[in-house]
Formats: sequence, structure tokens, C-alpha cells
Amino acid sequence: MQNDMESVLFSEEKLAERTQELADEISKEYKDKNPLMIGILKGAMPFMSDLVKRMDIYLELDFMDVSSYGNATTSSGEVKILKDLDTNVEGRDVIIVEDIIDSGRTLSYITKMFGYRKANSIKIVTLLDKPEGRVVELPVDYVGFLVPNEFVVGYGLDYAERYRNLPYIGILKPEIYRDK
Ligand code: 5GP
Ligand code: MG
Ligand code: MG
Repeated sequence: MQNDMESVLFSEEKLAERTQELADEISKEYKDKNPLMIGILKGAMPFMSDLVKRMDIYLELDFMDVSSYGNATTSSGEVKILKDLDTNVEGRDVIIVEDIIDSGRTLSYITKMFGYRKANSIKIVTLLDKPEGRVVELPVDYVGFLVPNEFVVGYGLDYAERYRNLPYIGILKPEIYRDK
């Protein structure tokens, strides 16, 4: 698997360091709020796991799985809920945990939905943000790293469902796409 990588963008050490900073920042702000942290499957799983282990406050976890129609590397506007929450978000301070925000469509849809469901507050933490890809306006509260408009994999992020288990984030060799 590692032979498929062209370059490393964020090493395991760098991811750990930045995740700790985000955990400290969020913990301070949500100390007495018992936030509901909602991970968007499957990409957010490794990041969320590392993030919450570094937060020494009371919090709850839940997960949602959504699919945005589109091909392997870009998303369309439509969002379909594949797995909904177990938790009622009404009155809760929600923190959505994402792997990467590109067009912003997925999270724009989800935050609106939590608004209809009467969450008390909704914030977003994303490991990566690609501001150049933004199509809809979306306030993002905590960002790990900004990334250029390139397709990245690893640490939750897939190409055709592979590479989510890479411990770092990198860029694939071009022939990996070409061979598909
Ligand atoms: P958005 O609705 O913001 O365009 O879509 C974000 C979703 O698209 C992410 O959760 C992720 O699944 C996918 N995505 C966007 N950019 C990348 C990327 O560079 N690499 C990978 N693996 N997925 C991406
Ligand atoms: Mg995602
Ligand atoms: Mg994907």
C-alpha cells in the first residue's frame, strides 16, 4: 500500500501534534457543555478517535453516514443519509467531526438538518480544509490544516475505499488513478 504513495503531506507526528492542539482548544470551550460529537463516517473515524482521546471533558459520541452522489473524486450537491444518529440533538451542543471539507455541500446539508432538529449550537471541526473547492458558504470553526486543491488519501480518507488505514496523509502516484 505504501508503494502507491507519491508523497507525504502530513506525517503521523504532525497529525498527532495538531490533533492535540485542537483537542485542547475544543476542551477549553466545551468544558461544562457535555457536547455531542458527531463523526461523519467513514472518513472521520481515525481523526475523531485520536481527537476525543485527547479531550479530558465529559462528552458523548454519535455517528452519521451520508453519501454525496458523484464519482470517486468529486461530490455532487445531493446528500443521502445512509445511517442517521441514535441521539436526539434537540437542545444539544453539537460538534460535527469531518475528515475534509471541499465544496462544503455535505456539511451544509447536515448543519441545516441539525438546525431543523433544534440543536442548541452547531460547530464544525475538520482535519483538512480545501478552501479553493468551496461552492457553498460554510462557517468552519476548527481546522487542522489547509490543503491545496489536490486529491489526498490516508488517515481516514479513501480512494475507492482504500488507504483509510494509512497512518499519515499523502498524495497517490498518478498511475494509481490511471490503472483504474
Ligand atoms: P464536500 O461536500 O465538502 O465537497 O465533500 C467532502 C467529502 O468529499 C469528504 O468528506 C470526502 O469524503 C470527499 N473528499 C473531498 N476532497 C477529498 C480528497 O482530497 N480526498 C479524499 N479521499 N476525499 C475527498
Ligand atoms: Mg467525510
Ligand atoms: Mg470518499
